[in-house]
Amino acid sequence: MPPQPKAVVLLSGGLDSATTAAIARSQGYALHALSIDYGQRHRFELAAAGRVAQSLGAAEHRTVRVDLAEMGGSALTDAIPVPQGRSASEMAGGIPVTYVPARNTVMLSVALGMAEVIGAADIWVGVNAVDYSGYPDCRPEYITAFERLANLATKAGVEGTLKFRIHAPLIDLTKADIIRRGAALGVDYSLTHTCYSPNPEDGAACGACDACQLRLQGFADAGLADPIHYFA
Ligand SMILES: [Zn+2]
Repeated sequence: MPPQPKAVVLLSGGLDSATTAAIARSQGYALHALSIDYGQRHRFELAAAGRVAQSLGAAEHRTVRVDLAEMGGSALTDAIPVPQGRSASEMAGGIPVTYVPARNTVMLSVALGMAEVIGAADIWVGVNAVDYSGYPDCRPEYITAFERLANLATKAGVEGTLKFRIHAPLIDLTKADIIRRGAALGVDYSLTHTCYSPNPEDGAACGACDACQLRLQGFADAGLADPIHYFA
């Protein structure tokens, strides 16, 4: 039997990346999970990422620190309030303050470096273009452009030892579709963390930030119960 191909999977600890990792596993990849500690205020997600990696039988889980809070500019890394209780139309109205400048480019770049080092041609990322209004680094054309960059920016790409592929299997799925897909693959969503503004004591989700609302609506639309604890 040939060895399992390696996949570098960006694992935030959230629902989308957990589902993405499960899809990669179902396609026969050995999971090399990568989390980025970027100074996010919802740091509980990093512990969640470790739990998810373990539950999916990842070959390894690394956490790399790239402190984007040094520059700030986002409600997730700076002294900017996380919006609460916004309506669906408000959420659809432009790029929110929870946008982290260049975050996916930073994360994919670290993933690319790790992939080149371990000899993985395949990088998996749980970006989604449907439920979020306007994160520019969650669009299909962004993923296509980064894949091109990956192959021209690396030694392995230039020498032809690896042909990098960026997999974004959730990009055109609704949140409900993502949850159904993950549930069918046995993802344990009780291990995941989504909230941007969790209780600092125990990490319980607020239920009112954009991320919580999209998650709750996704479970409702999928006809499933969300197994995590909400404090509000
Ligand atoms: Zn929340």
